[in-house]
Amino acid sequence: MKHVIKREQLRPDIIQTIEELSGQDIKSCYQCGKCSAGCPIAADMDVPPNQVIRQLQLGFVDEALRLKTIWLCASCETCTTRCPREVDLAAVMDALRNIAIQKGIRSPERAVTLFNKIFLSTVKRYGRVFEMELIGMFNTGTLNFFKDMTKAPKLFFKGRLKLFPNFTGRKMANTVFKDVKRIKSSGPEENSEPSKGI
Ligand code: SF4
Ligand code: SF4
Repeated sequence: MKHVIKREQLRPDIIQTIEELSGQDIKSCYQCGKCSAGCPIAADMDVPPNQVIRQLQLGFVDEALRLKTIWLCASCETCTTRCPREVDLAAVMDALRNIAIQKGIRSPERAVTLFNKIFLSTVKRYGRVFEMELIGMFNTGTLNFFKDMTKAPKLFFKGRLKLFPNFTGRKMANTVFKDVKRIKSSGPEENSEPSKGI
């Protein structure tokens, strides 16, 4: 008798989690490739964005979670706006990054995770990114101590690089970080209402 693979065999529970986190229906993608054709980062990715969706459709979730692609995605949403099936691929990438972090899967792009970590820590501390600290910590963390140093004076005299942090938005950032912590500890369903002032 011919062996028939049932759809459920190809769709482990984690696919449902990805769909819930991203709010997207993975199977609605019909692989036209328009997302990948417009993605500004595609040339540097190990697989193009449409193939990430294809891997998920086929149940290769572990493989997808280990891709460089999910970490290189800049969440620019070009793919999202181009998709004829209205698949928000940027949201899917975001869900995959979150799951990879939760599962303790190390990003093959260490510099990207380091950058994200430092970026968020400065936003948390000052309410907005403090470029001077970000560059210093990132260069130290990647052992590229003098990377982009020659650009600093030009940026400084153009007013793009500040010597001291700007605390505008600190209160708002604190509220956002507290909300995220609360949602993480009790689940998104019970916390659909954001704090007042956001
Ligand atoms: S553009 Fe949309 S339908 Fe086409 S491959 Fe990308 S995600 Fe799938
Ligand atoms: S959101 Fe990510 S995958 Fe989509 S076009 Fe932008 S970089 Fe590429």
